[in-house]
Amino acid sequence: MDHPPAAALNTPSPGSRRLADAWHRIVARLSTDCPLCGGAARGARLCRGCADDLRLAWQAATPRRCLRCAMPAMDTAGRGCGCPLRHAAFVQAVAAFDYRPPADLLVLDLKNRLRLSRLRAVAALMSQAAREAGLCQDASRVLVPVPASRASLQRRGFNPAAELARAVSAELGWSCRGEWLARVRDGRKQSRLGREARRLAVLGAYACPVRIDGARVVLVDDVMTTGSTADSAARALVRAGAAEVVVLVAARAWSEMPVDGAGAAAGVIPPEGAVFWLGAGR
Ligand SMILES: [Zn+2]
Ligand SMILES: [Zn+2]
Repeated sequence: MDHPPAAALNTPSPGSRRLADAWHRIVARLSTDCPLCGGAARGARLCRGCADDLRLAWQAATPRRCLRCAMPAMDTAGRGCGCPLRHAAFVQAVAAFDYRPPADLLVLDLKNRLRLSRLRAVAALMSQAAREAGLCQDASRVLVPVPASRASLQRRGFNPAAELARAVSAELGWSCRGEWLARVRDGRKQSRLGREARRLAVLGAYACPVRIDGARVVLVDDVMTTGSTADSAARALVRAGAAEVVVLVAARAWSEMPVDGAGAAAGVIPPEGAVFWLGAGR
C-alpha cells in the first residue's frame, strides 16, 4: 500500500493551539463539584482527596505491576506476571485506575450515560499516571486514540477514546493524531467474549494509512481488558513505522486479585455478565 507522508496531514496551527491552551487554562480554574464525592473541585476534575484516594487504591491493590500489561507482578522490576501480553506490539501499558468502584463510575458515566463532563476528570487522572510512569520526559510523543466501531459510534455519537486523547493532549501538550489509525473491519461486540475470541475479533481490524517512521506513539483507550484491541491497534502502528507504542488507558479491568503473581494471567478475563464489567469491552 502506498502511504502519503505523515507531514502531509492537517495539523493544528500554532494560533489555534494557543487558543485551545488558553481556553483549557480558563476552564481548569472554574469551580465545579467533584464527580465522585460532590465536594469542591476545579475544572470538572476530582477533588484533591478523591484523586489521592484513587492513586492510593491503585497502589494498594497491588504494589507491583507488570510494565507490559499493568497486571500484578511478582517482582519490583515488573516481571513475572505470567504475562499474557508478553508478545504484544506495545512495550508498556499505563492505567490511571483499576476498573472497579468508585472510579469505574467515571467511565460508566462517560461511556454509558454520555456525560462528556467526565472527560476532564478522567484525562487529568490519565495524565497524572503518564507523568508517574515517566512518559512525559519525551515531549515528542504522539497521542493516537483507538478508533471506535461503527456500531458504538452510532450508539454514542462520539468515540470516548478520541475525546480522552484530545483532553490528555490539552493536559500534557503532546500532539494528537486521530488520523493515524483507522478501523478497517468491524468485529463482534467484545464485552461478552473470552480472551481468544476477543483476539480474533480484532485481528487485522486496524490500519495506519500513513508512514509514521520513528514515531513514539501513546495509544489511548478508555478501558483495557484483555489487551487484544490495544495489541491489534499497536501492530498497525508498528507496521507503519512507529518506533515505539505505549498504551495509556483510563481503567485496567481485571477480575480477581491473584494470590501470587503467577495467577495474574488467569484473573484477567471478566466473568460473564458481572456488573463490574459493564461498559468495558476491550
Ligand atoms: Zn471528591
Ligand atoms: Zn504482564
